[in-house]
Amino acid sequence: MCLFCDIAEHKMNAHIVYETGRITAFLDINPANEGHVLIIPKLHTDTLVELPDEYLLEIADTARKIIKAYDVIYNAKGYGVMQNGGANCEFGHFHFHVFPRFPDDGYDWIYPEGSKEVSEEVAARLRSAIQ
Ligand SMILES: [Zn+2]
Repeated sequence: MCLFCDIAEHKMNAHIVYETGRITAFLDINPANEGHVLIIPKLHTDTLVELPDEYLLEIADTARKIIKAYDVIYNAKGYGVMQNGGANCEFGHFHFHVFPRFPDDGYDWIYPEGSKEVSEEVAARLRSAIQ
């Protein structure tokens, strides 16, 4: 169905680091840092909204296992996680990034300069829309 479905079904090679019946975790080929892993559900969806709870729980549990492994193999005391979904889901298949962080590793969260509102009105709009 897609590249990540092919990886999950072992039709495409990847450096798999952990796998269960519901998820596959493998090395990102364009890592932010060494050890950068993508965790994917063995279910084709591009959004967190449609991801069944049992998959989400297993992805979160796998992220914890990987973060613990970073401490063991890299002595990494920090980590990053990231997920882009919907229209911003590269490859069209949900994937959860996990990578170790090191002091002065150069990784940063970059976004356009400019004022974005932070106010009680914004919070109230979100509160009223959250179901
Ligand atoms: Zn897929």
